[in-house]
Amino acid sequence: MTDLAFLVGVTYLIAATLFVVGLHKMRAPSTARRGNRISAVGMVIAVGSTVTFALIDTGGDVLAWTALVLGAGVGASFGVRRSSTVKMTDIPQLISVFNAVGGGAAATIAIADFLHYRTGDSPPLTVSIPVVFGVLIGSLTFSGSLIAAGKLQGLIPGQPIVFPGARVLNLGVAGVAAGAGVLAIVTSSHIEWLLVLLVGASILGILMVLPIGGADAPVIVSLLNAFTGLAVAMAGFALDNQALIIAGALVGAAGTILTLEMAKVMNRSVPSIVLGGFGTSDTATDTPVDGQDLNDVRQLTADDVALQLAYAHQVLIVPGYGLAAAQAQHEVAELAKLLTAHGVKVRYAIHPVAGRMPGQMNVLLAEADVPYTQMLQLDEANTAFDTCDVALVIGANDVCNPDAREPGNAVSGMPILDADHAKSVVVIKRSMNSGYAGVSNPLFTDPKTGMFFSDAKKGLAEIVVATKTYVAA
Ligand code: NDP
Repeated sequence: MTDLAFLVGVTYLIAATLFVVGLHKMRAPSTARRGNRISAVGMVIAVGSTVTFALIDTGGDVLAWTALVLGAGVGASFGVRRSSTVKMTDIPQLISVFNAVGGGAAATIAIADFLHYRTGDSPPLTVSIPVVFGVLIGSLTFSGSLIAAGKLQGLIPGQPIVFPGARVLNLGVAGVAAGAGVLAIVTSSHIEWLLVLLVGASILGILMVLPIGGADAPVIVSLLNAFTGLAVAMAGFALDNQALIIAGALVGAAGTILTLEMAKVMNRSVPSIVLGGFGTSDTATDTPVDGQDLNDVRQLTADDVALQLAYAHQVLIVPGYGLAAAQAQHEVAELAKLLTAHGVKVRYAIHPVAGRMPGQMNVLLAEADVPYTQMLQLDEANTAFDTCDVALVIGANDVCNPDAREPGNAVSGMPILDADHAKSVVVIKRSMNSGYAGVSNPLFTDPKTGMFFSDAKKGLAEIVVATKTYVAA
């Protein structure tokens, strides 16, 4: 081993250690930011060492230098710009686009490595097998992630897109892609089979994500994230690059665990997702409920809500997507502080998939300096609802839909926050519109529920003003 290769190996080891430490810290919201920074330092070390090694290796090859510097510059400036300007509610789409880029890069690296061998000896199996898997998983992730991003962004209809014979087509395309993969390994100098595999896997990615709709979208984004990790690890095997193998394996493992966890809390089966039994299309019997009758609900004013909250002993706040969309985290934190100072016990009930990305509510509330100790996770919150006076639901819908306990609708089986177990319920939202899953919510027409129709930010600001008069009295 040359001195340079040894040095690169050492920097990869340092980078890998930082990835693991960073990931470990991302477990808890209080240390997640630090974990992210530690992992980012690891990534800078890994990329810096790879680029330096490649530049020394290629000597005076100006074209290679230019391509490396230009590629890294364009990629990094796009990443920094998009990540710093993206709205909190648009992060799932951005993650999906990043997954696509990761998968596409892994497939391209694998093909480039294969082409490199074509000019000389045939690649050994230790290279051709990872190359084939890299192209398969990378291309599928690329196209699937773009479709998922399009759905989340509203560029493609969010409902499941299904057509007769879809499963047969899926199987047919999967068969062609698998056959091309085997032939690419057997006839290792034929790039044509690799290209057939690339096209087949890309079509498969599209077919896989199109039928997904309703509440299943986050599971597929997380699954594709795991796929990106696998594709990157395969590219690492093909290139014999330990940093790629380790980073890819970590992303693959973390993505897989997150997928399983999300599938569990949304009561969706991962095997049925992988096999193409996607979406809520098979089970959804409900339709959007813009017309859920206003006459069935008890309407409240800001003053009514403030009075109810000021006289409560215990309040559990249920934040949902609407709180994030309205950016009302500071208003809700102010209200909670006001009530706490008045002697009311205020806590937040956090559902794992509230909002549009896992952990969104924790991040949002942390932004407004809400202490983590006030945030109760699902099980803990559900115990607390039994003794709470007011469940204050803000821009949440599916995550507290009691119909999830009944069969035959799009949220059936999804573990929910039992807001309906509280003594009384106050809901702040703008209308009777449905949430992400497109189903009606009987919580809104429950006799113990009062609805305050308002934008979350505006409504909470009004409640804060009204509460001040009661807590001062
Ligand atoms: P929902 O999408 O079920 O409901 C959000 C509610 O917020 C809507 O009914 C809407 O009603 C209301 N709303 C929207 N804007 C505002 C506003 N400005 N002010 C006040 N209210 C507003 O959200 P939940 O958080 O309850 O559930 C999350 C859903 O998203 C689940 O179905 C989950 O599966 C899915 N999902 C979750 C992801 C994740 O990883 N967390 C990712 C993708 C999907 P109105 O229009 O009447 O105001």
